[in-house]
Amino acid sequence: MDTIAERYSAVLQRVTQAAHRVERQPEEITVVAVSKTWPAEVVLQAYAAGIRHFGENRTEELESKRTAVSHTLGPDNGITWHLIGTLQSRKTQSAAEFADYFHALDRLKIANRLSHHLQENGRTLPIFLEVNVSGEISKSGFPCTAWETNATQQAELRKVVAEITQLSGLQLQGLMTMAPWDVPETEIRTVFRRTRAVKEWLETAVPTLHLPFLSMGMTDDFEIAIEEGATHVRVGRAIFGFRP
Ligand SMILES: *Cc1c(COP(=O)(O)O)cnc(C)c1O
Repeated sequence: MDTIAERYSAVLQRVTQAAHRVERQPEEITVVAVSKTWPAEVVLQAYAAGIRHFGENRTEELESKRTAVSHTLGPDNGITWHLIGTLQSRKTQSAAEFADYFHALDRLKIANRLSHHLQENGRTLPIFLEVNVSGEISKSGFPCTAWETNATQQAELRKVVAEITQLSGLQLQGLMTMAPWDVPETEIRTVFRRTRAVKEWLETAVPTLHLPFLSMGMTDDFEIAIEEGATHVRVGRAIFGFRP
């Protein structure tokens, strides 16, 4: 059996190779190790292997694991916790308290509630807007299925971004997307490419907006995502193995 350290090192090597294929610096890319469903002991093993960015998709798990890990390693352990999954409104309080990054903002209602709780806690939270460019995979994410030509979608996106940037506590830093499963590589690549294009369009459409980050790519497609501009890849199985 490979260890977490060996698998992580293999992932980093693939990240470096993918970055070099498109003349990017591997240092621009953050590998978020998706530890969902694994217990805190496994996070501690990953920590010993040098991993400092962890991704969770449920607030309950984020809260309990972060607490357990801090208990063992102390609060200044250097870990950044990424909440990567869609958030329900009754979980916004926990997200505002325990997440260092939130990758899946998909509704204005969630943004408003997060902002409220962040102000109460005196925290700021960097966020990614989840966008849905394929229309295929799920209902989550702001609709961008035809953003190139659909003026209504463009206006809606502009409005959403303008409103979010007004909310205190939230720092809009980029876009996130999920590629469809089980489709040809060309289709996955198109999803990532169009997501990057939405980001670039938004930066010109909304004055003063700067979106340095793109969260896209998982175990099966992170190299394609890097070739298409990802700055954050969310990798679970390739580091931890198949989930229990
Ligand atoms: C589980 C999950 C991942 C990681 O998936 P793997 O295929 O195990 O790499 C990435 N992003 C999100 C939003 C997830 O829920």
